[in-house]
Amino acid sequence: MPKTMHLPDAKKTAPSPKHEPAGFRVFIDFDNTISIGDVLDGVIEKFSIDDSWRALENAWADGRIGARECLDGQVRGLRADWPDLARHLEGVKLDPGFATLRDLLRREGVELTIVSDNFDVLLGHILRHNGLADVACYANHLELADDSLLPSFPFNNPDCPTCAHCKKTHFLPPNDDARQVIFIGDGRSDICPARHADIVFAKDSLLTYLQNAVIPCIAYHDLTEVAHALKKHLHESKI
Ligand SMILES: [Mg+2]
Ligand SMILES: [Zn+2]
Repeated sequence: MPKTMHLPDAKKTAPSPKHEPAGFRVFIDFDNTISIGDVLDGVIEKFSIDDSWRALENAWADGRIGARECLDGQVRGLRADWPDLARHLEGVKLDPGFATLRDLLRREGVELTIVSDNFDVLLGHILRHNGLADVACYANHLELADDSLLPSFPFNNPDCPTCAHCKKTHFLPPNDDARQVIFIGDGRSDICPARHADIVFAKDSLLTYLQNAVIPCIAYHDLTEVAHALKKHLHESKI
């Protein structure tokens, strides 16, 4: 195994027999981490009434607006009936390594949570369609009214203007505990949680950002690789 895949020792609260839960929990991004490609970008490109979403995207990319303002405007510019939207979501491909990862962590009693800047209704449908409805998932909220979509942001953090869904709030006080936090992600909305997690698996722009900022992380290409690294970590930390 390459040196970059070595994980630091898990926090040990007490000597644990073989099948007791390990001393960490796993948080994972959805778009372009579990899904192949960015699902929300695909929905916005396909169902927007006009091109105004591009101006919002550019303003966000330049740092002129935060992710919440960007997403709110983009989603309000969508027009889609649920059957059309559902059919589109059923075409989304997932990294096959995610099911491997889910199965491994379930067997080992390790908590796995999806944290996403996508929307609950959309992710719920994709997860159910792929037999993954049992995985805990925090995302932005969407109400469907006829062919309009009304977004809201229950996990927005007033102290963190860059995030729409501030993913770190799920593992920082008052939601912290003795377990280490492993975070897996790929993009800009993952920078904030990655800066606060104990161990980070990163690819694409998240990896570039963390490497440039000299923040330790483990590079990965797909979730099968992550599942193998975590399996090794689990067994090493239990011996
Ligand atoms: Mg992503
Ligand atoms: Zn944040």
